[in-house]
Amino acid sequence: MEIELLAWALRLSNLAYIIAALLFILALAGLSKQTTAQRGNTFGIIGMTIAVGATILRAVAVSHAEPDTQHPALVTLLLIILALGIGAVIGVLRARRVEMTGMPELIAMLHSFVGFAAVLIGYNSFLEPQGVTPDVEVFHLAEVYLGIFIGAITFTGSIVAFLKLSGRIKGAPLMLPLRHLLNLAAIIVVVLLGVGFVLTDGHGPLAWGCLLLMTVIALLIGVHMVAAIGGGDMPVVVSMLNSYSGWAAAAAGFMLGNPLLIIVGALVGSSGAYLSYLMCKAMNRSFVSVILGGFGSDGGAVAEDTDHAPHTEITAEQTAALLKGATKVVITPGYGMAVAQAQYPVADLARTLRQAGVDVTFAIHPVAGRLPGHMNVLLAEAKVPYDIVLEMDEVNDDFAGVDVVLVIGANDTVNPIAEQPGSPIAGMPVLKVWEAKHVVVFKRSMGAGYAGVQNPLFFHENTDMLLGDAKASVDAINAAL
Ligand code: NDP
Repeated sequence: MEIELLAWALRLSNLAYIIAALLFILALAGLSKQTTAQRGNTFGIIGMTIAVGATILRAVAVSHAEPDTQHPALVTLLLIILALGIGAVIGVLRARRVEMTGMPELIAMLHSFVGFAAVLIGYNSFLEPQGVTPDVEVFHLAEVYLGIFIGAITFTGSIVAFLKLSGRIKGAPLMLPLRHLLNLAAIIVVVLLGVGFVLTDGHGPLAWGCLLLMTVIALLIGVHMVAAIGGGDMPVVVSMLNSYSGWAAAAAGFMLGNPLLIIVGALVGSSGAYLSYLMCKAMNRSFVSVILGGFGSDGGAVAEDTDHAPHTEITAEQTAALLKGATKVVITPGYGMAVAQAQYPVADLARTLRQAGVDVTFAIHPVAGRLPGHMNVLLAEAKVPYDIVLEMDEVNDDFAGVDVVLVIGANDTVNPIAEQPGSPIAGMPVLKVWEAKHVVVFKRSMGAGYAGVQNPLFFHENTDMLLGDAKASVDAINAAL
């Protein structure tokens, strides 16, 4: 009777897993376009609810069928509900409190949890290899080894990314002497230890030695890999760690024999890898060089937050007068718009100007803000029509015909120093706003952007600085208009 019940529960949960997997694929497809993103999110939420329900059913059914080796079904259920409850309370409190500008570090932190979970599952699966027969022993050991390796890199890499994104670690990227050689040596040692580990059949102190040493090396690789990356290249690292967390989850799925975790992990892993590829393309970086660390920051000095040359300032009223006389205006938002929450008055400004017959478009740099698509999300929230929000490639050759560019809290993404070989952000494509007739930069000080590089744009002849909080400045312009 119990076996029959278990068989039914497993069949039902497998069916639920297939439905959940399909919903996750639909979610990803939906998230690829702004117009379908909300629907995509709904699919994801339904899929995850089904997945969690099916997993609970599976765990309870297994413990019910095997009362000798597992907890009684009721205890299993209570333990799961307790863990879910604690996690849900922490998650809800954290998510309610997080600002949009704090999302990247929250995501980095969540990636570190996935990595840590994969490490724990790896060790657990090594200690209690359930259902592993001698003929699949080698595969099991290999998946344990690989799962712990990916998990450990994701864990520490994500923690360093969290510290960097939240501004807790500042300054130049870590440039260890012979760092590429160190990375290579670490990988060779990990491979050799892996061979040793599998040859021990997973028994004895040698197996433990190989596993523990590899874990320490992988933790150090994670720290080194992200610490060596320059500020401007962080977007690639965020999407790369997203990908790693997917592969770590897939590895956990293999160890737990959970097909849905394998599917979801592979979906996250491959979509994260594709996003990293797109980011690299947008930043003109090679994927391999970013992973190896330190590229894009070779010898680049981090600028001090000081004013190095004379600059000219403009008032909100003068900016309003300038805009009244313009026929073509481009707005380039950046991280500062998110900090100031200036998207609503900026949307109002665009509306007023358009009503007055001015041609207004938004130019979005692929890594503006702190998340892929950060600016698009803010502008969609403020109900800016999608058709006037253009990607960098669509506008970058047309700035010469623009009367006024409003740079709202953007800095690195409009920094002409990227065109100077040897500069810390050399090669990164930027919005060529300086080619326009007039540029107004909205920011609070003359300080550098995320990459820590001083911006010569502020000192150009055709640039005026509108210093102050971006929201207050745009509000004042709206009032003057
Ligand atoms: P930056 O981070 O380069 O600069 C933002 C500017 O906004 C700062 O110079 C700051 O100047 C200004 N600012 C901050 N708060 C306000 C405010 N309240 N009002 C007005 N201005 C304000 O922005 P960009 O968007 O141009 O570039 C993004 C950077 O972030 C790139 O280096 C990118 O590589 C990196 N990054 C991007 C990620 C992504 O996925 N998009 C992820 C991780 C990193 P001040 O303090 O003087 O006001």
